[in-house]
Amino acid sequence: MSSQASPRRLGILAAMHDELAGLLADMGPDVVVQRVGLRDYHVGELYGHPCVLVLARIGKVAAAATTVTLIREFKVDAIVFTGLAGGIGQGVRVGDVVVGTSLVQHDMDARPIFPRHEIPLLDRAYFDTDASLNALLRQSAAAYVAEQLATDIDAATRADFGIDVPAVHEGLIASGDTFVHAAGMATSLVEALPDVLCVEMEGAAVAQICHEYEMPCAVLRTISDRADSTASVDFRAFLQRVASVYAVGIVRRFLMGKISRENAA
Ligand code: SAH
Repeated sequence: MSSQASPRRLGILAAMHDELAGLLADMGPDVVVQRVGLRDYHVGELYGHPCVLVLARIGKVAAAATTVTLIREFKVDAIVFTGLAGGIGQGVRVGDVVVGTSLVQHDMDARPIFPRHEIPLLDRAYFDTDASLNALLRQSAAAYVAEQLATDIDAATRADFGIDVPAVHEGLIASGDTFVHAAGMATSLVEALPDVLCVEMEGAAVAQICHEYEMPCAVLRTISDRADSTASVDFRAFLQRVASVYAVGIVRRFLMGKISRENAA
């Protein structure tokens, strides 16, 4: 996959409204909305950078269809997915951020014809994301949690979610069409994929399409729950109260970083 530090037009997608709301609000008034396949694509500038923002909805099919449209209809030069995920890996806690360097579809299983997790006829199970985008996202997330998070989210809310000093992780993300909400489900996932940091429902579909179109992409996830028996309660509370704040804080720094690099060049 080609590496591109300063994409001209960035496609940003999320699965749920609250994950995207803050970014949409920050796009300002000069936005053109185009409806394709039941989705609204918001074309304009975000923090001075040309962007297309879209609500993909939940699941791999929704994410894949939206990604193809961003590439073919809206001619984006790179794609970033932002959203929430269930923490699975040891030390991956609610409020932490995960940058996915590699994505796998944990529910793909065409055995005995193909090895477990391998995408039939594509010869691979794991899809890598773009190293330059990942580096910038990691720096943006680390700066955000260290410098701004405590201002954006008050102490009582942070205490409610047990958010202390969030960590930024980088590594494997597993995606599948299942909301993982029981310790047993999470345990089987770790048995099948020991290195997985978190689980969600879209990232690997985006990464597969981006691989097929040779499009640089990145997947940024904030941990909303631990994919256990309290996951659905934890997830909803996190979604309503903090999801958008994280997305705005990190993506803003990410786009500003890009702009200052472009200016410096
Ligand atoms: N039970 C939830 C379902 C939302 S799906 C509800 O009623 O609202 C969860 C969304 O957040 C998906 O887009 C997925 O990518 C992500 N996600 C967060 N935690 C997850 C988990 N534990 N398992 C799977 N996906 C999760």
